[in-house]
Amino acid sequence: MKSFLNNIDTKDFNDKYDHWIFDLDNTIYDYNLGLFRRVSSRMTEYIKGFFDLNEADARTLQRDMYKKYGLTLRGLMIEKKINPEPFLEFVHDVDFSELNEDITLKTLLGKIKGKKSIYTNATFKHAKNILKSMGIFQEFEIIFDIKDANYIAKPDPNSYYMMKKKLNLNNKNISKSIFFEDTAKNLKPARELGMSTVWIENDFNRKEADILREYINFTGSDIKSILSNMLEFEKR
Ligand SMILES: [Mg+2]
Repeated sequence: MKSFLNNIDTKDFNDKYDHWIFDLDNTIYDYNLGLFRRVSSRMTEYIKGFFDLNEADARTLQRDMYKKYGLTLRGLMIEKKINPEPFLEFVHDVDFSELNEDITLKTLLGKIKGKKSIYTNATFKHAKNILKSMGIFQEFEIIFDIKDANYIAKPDPNSYYMMKKKLNLNNKNISKSIFFEDTAKNLKPARELGMSTVWIENDFNRKEADILREYINFTGSDIKSILSNMLEFEKR
C-alpha cells in the first residue's frame, strides 16, 4: 500500500478539507491500550448472562453476529430481539483510567481549521467518557453515535446516509470531507460517497486493508503521526 503523502503538497490539507470526521475506538486512542478489547469482553459477559451460555458459545454468538451484521448489537437486536439500552450500558462500563490527557493530540486537533466530528458505532456516553479523559471533548462539534444511526452500524451504507445528513454533508461538499478509521472495511462506503479516507494501520485489519486499498487514500501508523504529517508541514 502506498505509504504516506509522498506526492502530496501537505500545505493543502487545511484548504482541501472542511469536514474532518473521526472514528472513535482504536482510532482516536491507540489500539494497543486494549480498551476496546475490554468492551468486547464485556459483550461476551453480557451474552453469557443474558442467554445463559458458556464462554465458548457466547463468543461464537458474538462473533457470528459481528460478522453477519457488522455490529454484535445489531445482530442481537435483529435475531434475538434484545433491548439495546441495557446492553450498551453494560458493555461500555469499562475502566478508562489509563487514558490520559493527550496534549499533543489536542494541539494537533487545534490546528484543524474545518469542522471536526466523531462517527462511532458506540454510544455518545462512551465517546464522551473517552474524549473527556483525553481532554479533547471540546474539540468536536458533533458526535454521531449508534443511536443517531438507529442502531445501524458502519459499514452499512444506511448508517453513512444518516451521518451525512446530521453533519450537513451533501453531494457538493462531501469531497471536502476526510474520514479516519482503523477498521478498513468501514472506509469503503465513505470513499464511495466521495469522502477522502485514512486508514489507521493495525495488524488486525491489514489483510482487509490490502484488499480494499483502492478505497484508501492515506495511511499512517497512528492518529498523531498522521495529523502531524498533514498539519505540521513546516517541520518536514
Ligand atoms: Mg474503530
